[in-house]
Amino acid sequence: MGTVLVVEDEAAIAELIRLHLRHAGYQVTVAVDAEQAQAAVDRVLPDLVLLDWMLPGQSGLQLARRWRAEARTRDLPVIMLTARAEETDKVAGLDTGADDYLTKPFSPKELMARIRAVLRRRAPEALDSAVEIAGLRLDPATRRVTRAVDGQPREVRIGPTEFRLLHFLMTHPERVHSRAQLLDRVWGDHVFIEERTVDVHVKRLREALAPVHCSALVETVRGAGYRMTQQLAAPAGSSAP
Ligand code: CA
Repeated sequence: MGTVLVVEDEAAIAELIRLHLRHAGYQVTVAVDAEQAQAAVDRVLPDLVLLDWMLPGQSGLQLARRWRAEARTRDLPVIMLTARAEETDKVAGLDTGADDYLTKPFSPKELMARIRAVLRRRAPEALDSAVEIAGLRLDPATRRVTRAVDGQPREVRIGPTEFRLLHFLMTHPERVHSRAQLLDRVWGDHVFIEERTVDVHVKRLREALAPVHCSALVETVRGAGYRMTQQLAAPAGSSAP
């Protein structure tokens, strides 16, 4: 399940949100101000940030603006939380690039629904929905990867890191991901792990996919990184359309 960073200076609200998120299966980190939030993001990119507007020191709005201006955090999904209900504030919040905006007090049910909606759009790998590409099916709920070969369903034997890598690639197909981006999003560590680690696991992933004829789904883009294509080339001997 996904990771959520909650940036909220009011301890009671932060704790309430944390409990609901944990109950729903998310991993939660809490930061009480912009500085702590920035430090948390510098360590590991969360799948989503719940960002309180009114914080001591730098405001949530300023923080969101800073994230949008930096390449590494530009696509970080952000839901702004605020006590303000005025329309102009809402517009300002969405203008900074927040993905959604929630006015306090809100119900836990509404919060969860908004989080799922934003994740579905922006970070589908953080959700439990099954994904399928070229007949290859990955189900995060059962942690199974399967594909039919000659009409028979076959299970792919795959290690935990390769599973996460495949999940991320399948939920972001046709896009080129640099090694640094993959370390950030799949390993959650862009500082201490060497980029060639990615190459090692991509190699293992292709080997795992070979028995179900899907190795070619993971493409190397020279000088750029890796991409998951959505179409396997037709097998040799099949007739051209
Ligand atoms: Ca506050």
